Amino acid sequence: MTFHARLACVVLPWFLVACAGGAAVKSARPGWAIAIHGGAGVLSRNTPPDQVREFEAALEQALRLGVERLQAGAAALDVCEAVVRVLEDDPHFNAGKGAVFNEKGEHELDASIMEGHTRRCGAVAGVRTVKNPITLARAVMEQTRHVLLMGDGAEQFATSVGVERVPNSHFDTEHRRQVLDEVLLERARTGMVDGPQQRQNAYGTVGCVVRDGDGRLAAATSTGGMTAKRFGRVGDTPVIGAGNYADDTVAISCTGTGEQFIRHVVAHAIAARMAFGGQTLAAASRALVFDVLQPGDGGLIAVDRDGNLAAPFNSEGMYRGLADSTGTFVVRIFED
Ligand code: ASP
Repeated sequence: MTFHARLACVVLPWFLVACAGGAAVKSARPGWAIAIHGGAGVLSRNTPPDQVREFEAALEQALRLGVERLQAGAAALDVCEAVVRVLEDDPHFNAGKGAVFNEKGEHELDASIMEGHTRRCGAVAGVRTVKNPITLARAVMEQTRHVLLMGDGAEQFATSVGVERVPNSHFDTEHRRQVLDEVLLERARTGMVDGPQQRQNAYGTVGCVVRDGDGRLAAATSTGGMTAKRFGRVGDTPVIGAGNYADDTVAISCTGTGEQFIRHVVAHAIAARMAFGGQTLAAASRALVFDVLQPGDGGLIAVDRDGNLAAPFNSEGMYRGLADSTGTFVVRIFED
């Protein structure tokens, strides 16, 4: 065999693998990493242990699904969507089934998804009849030339691409109804429309960030928003760069008072600190959560191109799970 033929034998397979795996990935360190969250709420520390255990079991189930997919070689984007669908279908969380009620006693759902190395992204806002908003967000990304669709237009698009629709009452749960009643009562008593009570009861947004075995990053976030929110209010979740973001450096999913995450463009600010300021993931994400945001605003999960994970929060707790190919597998609600 000539020298050039030998060279082709060595280089060609590498080239083909690089193309198949998304050639834009620069960091080729082996291994995968995943983080999920189920909101930065304030499930009280006095909550009965069996109820706490229920939440942990729900998180564990979703995290395990993500781990299995990653072990099987799935792409970051597919894992993010699959995991967020599981969390949307779980009534424990404020996304899909179990979403909070707005001030009119209805559900308006927001979601977004982003793939890091291509910067492709899709989002939906204020959808009322889409069973899994994250899947619709992905359809916006893949089947339109747009990034964000809202309301009726998003729902008509769902029908046109075969994304499942359900009546708005599908998302109802007794617990969320009770919380709405409490908030409305408190409002009537205090006359405060946007009081602290609203934040306190708004836990449960869900998200997932992944660095897959080929080094690709993705982030996905889905929410019912904030309890008793104004009709038509849209939070940070479908705003790319605020509540959800991924590029070649990092993938981030946020949870908390959406307006604050929008004002400070939190997810993109972390990516910018890392890319332009040379900060580590830990430093950049802690700076946003502890120096830029206010105590009680919420938290986020993030994974960087090397598979480092972060999950800082400034609320009393954040439902979260972290796993990676070195054997990490943890599910937590409060501080350690
Ligand atoms: N960030 C979400 C929103 O403001 C709510 C949450 O994460 O709890 O819509």
